[in-house]
Amino acid sequence: MVLAHAAVHTLADAQALDAADPLAAFRQQFWIPPSPQGGPSIYFCGNSLGLQPRAARARIEDTMRAWEQQGISGYFEAGGWGGYTEQVKAPLAQLVGAHPDEVAAANTTTVNINLLLSSFYRPEGSRRKIAVEARAFPSDRYAAASILRARGADPRTDLIELEPRPGEDLLRTEDVVATLQSRDDIALLLLAAVNYYTGQAFDLAPIIAAAHAQGICVGVDLAHAIGNVPMQLHAWGADFAVWCSYKYLNAGPGAVGGLYVHRRHHSDDRGRLEGWWGNAPASRFLMRPWFEPGLGAEAWVQSSPPAPMLALLIAGLEGHSAAGSEALRQKSLALTGLLEQRIDSLPPGRVQIITPRAPQQRGAQLSLRVGAERKDLYQSLMAAGVVCDWREPDVIRVAPVPLYNTFAEVWQFVELLRKLL
Ligand SMILES: *Cc1c(COP(=O)(O)O)cnc(C)c1O
Repeated sequence: MVLAHAAVHTLADAQALDAADPLAAFRQQFWIPPSPQGGPSIYFCGNSLGLQPRAARARIEDTMRAWEQQGISGYFEAGGWGGYTEQVKAPLAQLVGAHPDEVAAANTTTVNINLLLSSFYRPEGSRRKIAVEARAFPSDRYAAASILRARGADPRTDLIELEPRPGEDLLRTEDVVATLQSRDDIALLLLAAVNYYTGQAFDLAPIIAAAHAQGICVGVDLAHAIGNVPMQLHAWGADFAVWCSYKYLNAGPGAVGGLYVHRRHHSDDRGRLEGWWGNAPASRFLMRPWFEPGLGAEAWVQSSPPAPMLALLIAGLEGHSAAGSEALRQKSLALTGLLEQRIDSLPPGRVQIITPRAPQQRGAQLSLRVGAERKDLYQSLMAAGVVCDWREPDVIRVAPVPLYNTFAEVWQFVELLRKLL
């Protein structure tokens, strides 16, 4: 699809892009919530909660039937849920750029951050601090602060926030790298791959390389990145990562999240907190008093998997696999590019895009600064059937998602905004 610079001057032009869109049919595979007026809403909130795939209900029902008919045998027999955790590994690994043995579906984002911090935060000598990006998602910050306290450090001095330059909204890669190089007190860097507020996708390869050159461990939160931007966690050398599946993976509220641990750490328990499901499957049911770690990242899993929730994850992943990451990214670049181009056509000075302008530094989301006094814009958009969100103090976030949003919706959204301004 080559339409980043295609001229779009009318709604009909945008509709022509939809007509030529090879992924257009995927929209029919989702439930689009109705707007207050009755038709489908313009749902630009897939960065917060992805829409329900129509196939999800049948997936849950298969699992319910297996439980109904097979009882405990559903763990082991054909038709049961025993294979679900293996089944999701390859698609998850593909999305994050890892080997299948480096990923596991388990828990939720925050639980996984806490679990992996407890393994990977290892203060040594002068290196005792944790660095996070300023305006990190609250959970990430809370988790970092709480592990510091649990290990006898003080978050007021030992939690370092990487701040943008005064007057800027975005973190510059060179500034992050310079901080990592100039300080000798950082043990671990916890960074979102895509910041939830600004929508900035960090250039992780040089950041991870600079961290490792200093002996700093790097954890990455992929909550806003998985299913949104391409990643190469293994090649970049990230030590660990976590994600949720209810945003761009469309696996439903509270969906099973995931974790990644680089192969170089697989033979090192790193103070891992262990449970019976992290034991190797072959000896798990021998119920031995000692722990024999499962394959790779699996060893960090603690509990038996929530089968109905994994069924939802499988339904969510199917859309991504069928459409293909590359095609989704191409459409995403085009949709968000059109959104940017249309926003730039609004009367000057009213709406500021704080998300990076460079397409490789962002995913689907644009964060629009409209001013703290214009929360009414958000309320009017919602009332008119555009589902977006407001983030204090002054930002509306919109995310056209390539699996189910259209070019025409982007057009209609901006025209509505133009009227409301
Ligand atoms: C959405 C999000 C979370 C959410 O965590 P859960 O524990 O899955 O509810 C955490 N961190 C970031 C960066 C997020 O964007």
